[in-house]
Amino acid sequence: MQKKVWLSSPHMGNSEKSYVEEAFTTNWIAPLGPNVSGFERDIEEYIGNDVHAACLSSGTGAIHLALELLGVGLNDEVLCQSFTFAASANPITYLGGKPIFIDSESETWNISPELLEKAIIDRIQLGKKPKAIIAVHLYGMPYKIDEVHAVSKKYNIPIVEDSAEALGSSYQGIRCGSFGDIAILSFNGNKIITTSGGGALLSKDEKIKQKAIFLSTQARDNAPHYQHSHIGYNYRMSNVLAGIGRGQMEVLPERIGARRNNFLFYKEVLSDFKEITFLEEPYGTYSNRWLTCILTPSFKIREKIRVALEKENIESRPLWKPMHLQPIFENETHYVNGVSEDLFNRGLCLPSGSNLDREDLVRICDIIKNLLQ
Ligand SMILES: *Cc1c(COP(=O)(O)O)cnc(C)c1O
Repeated sequence: MQKKVWLSSPHMGNSEKSYVEEAFTTNWIAPLGPNVSGFERDIEEYIGNDVHAACLSSGTGAIHLALELLGVGLNDEVLCQSFTFAASANPITYLGGKPIFIDSESETWNISPELLEKAIIDRIQLGKKPKAIIAVHLYGMPYKIDEVHAVSKKYNIPIVEDSAEALGSSYQGIRCGSFGDIAILSFNGNKIITTSGGGALLSKDEKIKQKAIFLSTQARDNAPHYQHSHIGYNYRMSNVLAGIGRGQMEVLPERIGARRNNFLFYKEVLSDFKEITFLEEPYGTYSNRWLTCILTPSFKIREKIRVALEKENIESRPLWKPMHLQPIFENETHYVNGVSEDLFNRGLCLPSGSNLDREDLVRICDIIKNLLQ
């Protein structure tokens, strides 16, 4: 059996272990401590733009808290990009809210500003003004920032910027994670950097950070005994795992460079085949190229490639199945144009880890070339 090649696997640097060791030697084995504060500072410095970060146990938890902080409650409608991972949408339901799914445009594959506005006008006419918009920088490609935020401003509906896949991506030199009223990051094992599991909530408003920390640590009132006037959560990040995060932040620029080189390699080697296309960066956008995605001419060819790779012990995956086509969400209201369904049918994510070596990439490309020739 050939060596297993993963879609996106963890890639440790040199100093993660020493930060974790420090947590042990100082006995900060708790969901608070110097690594948590240090990791938050590292993230704030990296994203810039006066963003404040609260480190949490997952990106999903961060979306949950973001929606709660924006006042989403029972029966409130939340507009959500349909073409995404289910974790973008699930937290709407935790709060008893109703997701309204919005299809994508084909330039960035993210939420269509036109459909978004159409949906807002429609919902307002029905007397159900949406409480929030969840926009996603899928696969690291920034969504149409200017257009989407103009719609948000026009109708005064706040944006949760799901940057789980886009740490290090930017638009006009401004890093993703600083555009939304609240933004979130993920440090799950498959993301561009990882703490094994973890996330962060970001906001330019420091009070939002403090409220997120309050809610994530069981919502304790300021009293010597345990007193609660609010329902809380246990969502804070462990100081042990934050140590991994601090080490990972030191190598983040290298990790982005490696992922972007994967993309360039695939594009160059497969450029002879006009039927294979890639997602290009529109003017002003910079993608971390978390995963390299290809579009094939048909579902059949996409599957041929996927199965051929699988036979060689190489993991690839179809693009995200849109939420409005998921069994759990298919009865929810949706505004669609066919773009994400087509991407799902014809698209494939190729192995994209920053720890792939050149032989892996060559082997993958050879398999695809042989199939297409
Ligand atoms: C990974 C991911 C999340 C969830 O993050 P977790 O840390 O795994 O909970 C949310 N949205 C998107 C788009 C993701 O890719």
